[in-house]
Amino acid sequence: MAEQVRAAVRIGPRTTELREYPIPYVPQDAALMRVDVAGICGTDVKMYKTPPTEAPVIMGHENIGTIAQVGRQFADRKGVKEGDLVFVEHYLPCFKCAWCHLGEYRHCEATDWRFNPNAVRYGYTSAERPPHLWGGFAQYMYLPWNAVVHKVPEGVSAELAGIVTPMSNGIEWTLFDCGVGYDSTVLIMGPGQQGLSQTVASKQAGASLIIVTGRARDAARLKVAQALGADHVIDVDNDDGLARIRTITGDKGVDVVLDCTAGGGTAPVLLGIEALKRRGGILLIQGEMATFPDFPIGKLTSKAITVKSARGHSYRACELALAQLASGRFLLEMMTTHTYGLKDADLAIRSVGGEVSDDVIHVSLLPWMAGPA
Ligand SMILES: [Zn+2]
Ligand SMILES: [Zn+2]
Repeated sequence: MAEQVRAAVRIGPRTTELREYPIPYVPQDAALMRVDVAGICGTDVKMYKTPPTEAPVIMGHENIGTIAQVGRQFADRKGVKEGDLVFVEHYLPCFKCAWCHLGEYRHCEATDWRFNPNAVRYGYTSAERPPHLWGGFAQYMYLPWNAVVHKVPEGVSAELAGIVTPMSNGIEWTLFDCGVGYDSTVLIMGPGQQGLSQTVASKQAGASLIIVTGRARDAARLKVAQALGADHVIDVDNDDGLARIRTITGDKGVDVVLDCTAGGGTAPVLLGIEALKRRGGILLIQGEMATFPDFPIGKLTSKAITVKSARGHSYRACELALAQLASGRFLLEMMTTHTYGLKDADLAIRSVGGEVSDDVIHVSLLPWMAGPA
């Protein structure tokens, strides 16, 4: 094993530097993971542009890797051994609080950087904090006793497993938060990796109608949405989205709306409220904007809409997502479009942000791939 670990470190807004850290000592209750794939999502784009901390951070919060070294206690507790391919969630919870006891550790204060400056979470924690390796944009990642580890099923490649996070969110939001099931009608706004994962989850759950919207630049992504199960796709730049939805649903509207757009302003939420059925629909939002001027709050009560906020995924959602990947039922390889080496971390994030090309769906950083010099 190498003596030093190479990492791409965010040192300021839109600035990355390659740095090296020592291979950490691995105690009995911990492990070291060789990072095979760090998935990149819209959150990375946001955090890269406006970092929530000035500290240097090894980004990468959607991480797949191989157990390289493991303490005996960690191996016993987690049921893993050296050589196992695993998905490690980004949460590092306390396992003592009420949320943790409920199994809802994603809400644990110990891993909530928004409210707790000392929170630890992969992709968010300062690289100055020993043993430094708190993110997937590095050759190795440190797994302490409280790392949440899932074994990747046989036959699922590391790169395909790289989409387990959006797929987990798809299952969490579609099934658990919005109750999509047999005969549900669903509108998914935004055909990026997140919207496509919601499409797969809705289809698998038995939805009878899936409509996916996108912009003119999303032409390739809307095609993938159709291949993954969307019954109708709408380019809202060139078509009247609401009129189309009304025609498709015979003026009834849909049961559930999932907003998976990025940078769409208030328009998608306003469309979603109109597109929901007469009463009792569910609208899932991501809260991208801090405020919402002239929000039509009266519509929420007149249509009896329930608003849900997207907030990560649970253990069960991750396990179901891995099973979905292993089933081979959907052509999910259509989603894994781009890979980059460690040297190109900056380019990789910018490509997710739409700065490089229009055919990007899911981007993986492969820390051991030699990128162009
Ligand atoms: Zn993410
Ligand atoms: Zn806790």
